[in-house]
Parts: sequence; C-alpha cells; structure tokens
Amino acid sequence: MAAQDYETLDGRFSRLFNPTAHVHKLCTGCQWAEGPAYFPASRGLVWSDIPANRLMRYDEGTGHAGPFRQPSGNANGNTVDRQGRLVTCEHGGRRVSRTEHDGSIVALAERYDGKRLNSPNDVVVKSDGSIWFTDPTYGIDSDYEGDRAESEIGASYVYRIDPATGALTVVADDFVKPNGLAFSPDERLLYVVDTGRTHGAHFPAHMRVFDVRDDGTLANGREFAACTAGLFDGFRLDEAGRIWTSAADGVHCYDPDGTLIGKVRVPEGVANVCFGGPKRNRLYVCATTSLYAVYLFTNGARTF
Ligand code: MG
Repeated sequence: MAAQDYETLDGRFSRLFNPTAHVHKLCTGCQWAEGPAYFPASRGLVWSDIPANRLMRYDEGTGHAGPFRQPSGNANGNTVDRQGRLVTCEHGGRRVSRTEHDGSIVALAERYDGKRLNSPNDVVVKSDGSIWFTDPTYGIDSDYEGDRAESEIGASYVYRIDPATGALTVVADDFVKPNGLAFSPDERLLYVVDTGRTHGAHFPAHMRVFDVRDDGTLANGREFAACTAGLFDGFRLDEAGRIWTSAADGVHCYDPDGTLIGKVRVPEGVANVCFGGPKRNRLYVCATTSLYAVYLFTNGARTF
C-alpha cells in the first residue's frame, strides 16, 4: 500500500499527500546521489553521483536515465538559474560553475580572499540573480568525493555572489559545516543546514533560519529545527513555505512554524530533494544509490 510511504505526525500533513501515490524508484546504481535540479524546458532532471565523478540525467518524457557529464568535477549540489542554466557546486573543482547555453562551463567562484574554496556543497539562486552557496570541507576531507587537501581558508562559510559584479562575500561565518540551503517563497528568509555533527558529537545537526536584508546580508540567525533522524542535508520549500528536507529515514516535512508534521518514507538515506514536473508537484529525491520521485498534493516554490 502506498499509504505506507507516508507518516503523518500532525493533521496538517494529511492533506499534502495522495495515499495512492507511490514513491517510485527511477534509477539506481549510483554511489552517492545528490544535487537534483529540474529543467522545465526539457522536462529533465540533472543530479550528481559525487564519488563516481559524474552528472546524471533523467528524461521525464521517456523515463530513461543515464550519464549526462563525466567527469563532473565531483559535482555535488546543483540548481537551475532564472535563465535556465545549470549552476553546479564542484568538490573536485573546488568551485561553483555555470553551464552556459552554448555548453561551455564557466567558473563563478573559485577563491575567497585569494584562497581556494574548500568544496562548494549546495547552491541556490535568488530572483535578483545573486547566487548563494555553502562551502564545507566534505570534498577535501578525503579522496572519496574529491581530492584530499588542507583547507586554505580554515573555516566553512556561506557565500553570496553578487549578480552585478560577481564579487564574493561571506554572509554567514558561524557554521561548523554549512550544507543545504534554500529561500522561503518570498525570499525574506534563508534556511541553512549545519551538518557539523559529522565532525564531532558536540557539533550541531540542525537547520537555522535567517532574515534576508535588502542589501544581500543576513540577520537574526536562529535555530529552526533539530534533525530527529540522522542529519539534514539538502532541502527545498513548497509554495506555502513548508520545508521538505532530507533525513536518514526519508523526507521530513516541516511547517513554517517549525513543527515536524510528517514524513515521506524512502528506503535509502536521503541526501537532497527538488520539486519538478511541469506543475512542480513532483518531488524528486536523491537517496544514497538511487533517484526516487513522488507526486504530492503541494507544489514547489516557484524558482523558475
Ligand atoms: Mg549537501
């Protein structure tokens, strides 16, 4: 029964899913699936297989999936900007890159204050064209999902790339390991995960939220939710501002008031999600070795 794919913890969750809609496995055989990004014009999903050093693509029209780009610079998080271009965090490349309409790949951020970035992890584009990304050390901690190296910066920051000048600024410097991030539908709030717990039991495994100022800075950071199953990683918001986030036992859904209202159970640990389909009512889920998808009774926040 598909109803077993869902766990309602609060009555508000019960109207967000169709009990007959299954969580479908679309592709498997990845080493570590991450970074789903939906392209409405081509009805395709691009995602990363980080250790395999490849980007994958799922075709919504045919249902076929296969390699899209290899090597990928050990790509991790991806997103699609307002012009329909792929923006990618590269562990191996230690940069944020953009794939142009002609297929060329350009670097958007490689260094801060003259020092190489650690290993950009996840990325979002605001409607004003600014690009916001996190830069923990997972891609340089070992040779598994990048190339092992010492951090030149010596810290893990959240950055913003200015849309007019391309200048890189630090917008948050008080994370242990900043990871997934996403804006609220009105872009007044920015949610950012801290997965510091991977580097010590006394470090956080939670999501914080900030007020986004008009000048591109953040203010009033506070804890939004502590993860109840493993770690949060990547996440996205729906039109009502609910947070659909990765966790060890599936996708957790939070009301904007901070209540965990329900879960979509997934058979593998989840790393990241994104909304897609022409109506943005299909949640794509990158989970360890596989790509899954499920149709929901809600629609993703409009980011394209
Ligand atoms: Mg991540």
